[in-house]
Amino acid sequence: MSATEPAGDGPAPVLMAVHAHPDDEAIATGGLLARAAAAGWDVTVVTCTGGERGEVVADQLGGPNTDPADVAARLPQIRRDELAASLSTLGANPPVWLGYRDSGMRGDPANDDPASFWRAPFDEAVGRLVAELRARRPALVVTYDAFGLYGHPDHVQAHRVTLCAVEAAAQPLLHPEAGPACPAPRVDLATTARSGLAATNAALAQHGVASPFGTETDPQRLSMGTPDAEVDFAVDVTEHLETKRAALACHRTQVAADSLFLNVPAELARTVLGPRRRRRRRSAGGSGRRRWRRGLRAPARRVLVGGARRLSMWAVVPTAAATQPVTGRCG
Ligand SMILES: [Zn+2]
Repeated sequence: MSATEPAGDGPAPVLMAVHAHPDDEAIATGGLLARAAAAGWDVTVVTCTGGERGEVVADQLGGPNTDPADVAARLPQIRRDELAASLSTLGANPPVWLGYRDSGMRGDPANDDPASFWRAPFDEAVGRLVAELRARRPALVVTYDAFGLYGHPDHVQAHRVTLCAVEAAAQPLLHPEAGPACPAPRVDLATTARSGLAATNAALAQHGVASPFGTETDPQRLSMGTPDAEVDFAVDVTEHLETKRAALACHRTQVAADSLFLNVPAELARTVLGPRRRRRRRSAGGSGRRRWRRGLRAPARRVLVGGARRLSMWAVVPTAAATQPVTGRCG
């Protein structure tokens, strides 16, 4: 049975991804979400902030875009529209917002904004996510690793809030105002395997392209990413790269048309996809790929309470691995 076949009779199993900003759903998990949706899952993305501090591709804003106050006033709606288009492209439900402001990168003064996600009262943020979990009762929740992939405060906060919320959602005495308790879902953490980072740095350097991940090509010397031995499994999203790329292109005011994410040479795709296949590890439940496929078809049998697993983000970064120029197709 193919992973793209429907999940079976009965209500569609629910996958909930928790992300910090509009565009993270496409960059970090676009292939995964597209694959799950194609397999019959009911896919929802909870986005914690409005992405107000993200990149702005000025020539995509439209209208009078030279006035910073005008841009600031219009950006939230633009980002909402872009996320809605991206999710539609991936086959997911309309956006769900947790209601916080973007905190900006570490050290940004916006980190001190009391309305920012980074400064949010922790229990309040957990309670908001508990309400979404109880309303949708996901079998699988996906968020970032503990470092938020690259240390962005909002990503780190999303990880913390998600892990606490999935446990709290199952405990009826916690956040009773958020609805009746639900079973704790399985949690998978999207991460970046160090061998994949190193391989990408080397491949980009070969093509004369600066890697956003630096110049180090020795996995042992990388401080970023997850050691390969700690990556439990990878998800093959090869068949969904085009969908992921189209979703990413929907974020036109954040991701420029000439962005590396949208224009990686085909040769890099092969380099990046190769190590992912070799990194598959066997476990008591069978190979990582088999476990994931089985989960896509029958999630109820693989709910692991509190059992966090890591996904290899290489299933995503190859998102960057476009084989043709992006067309900007949305929806
Ligand atoms: Zn982000």
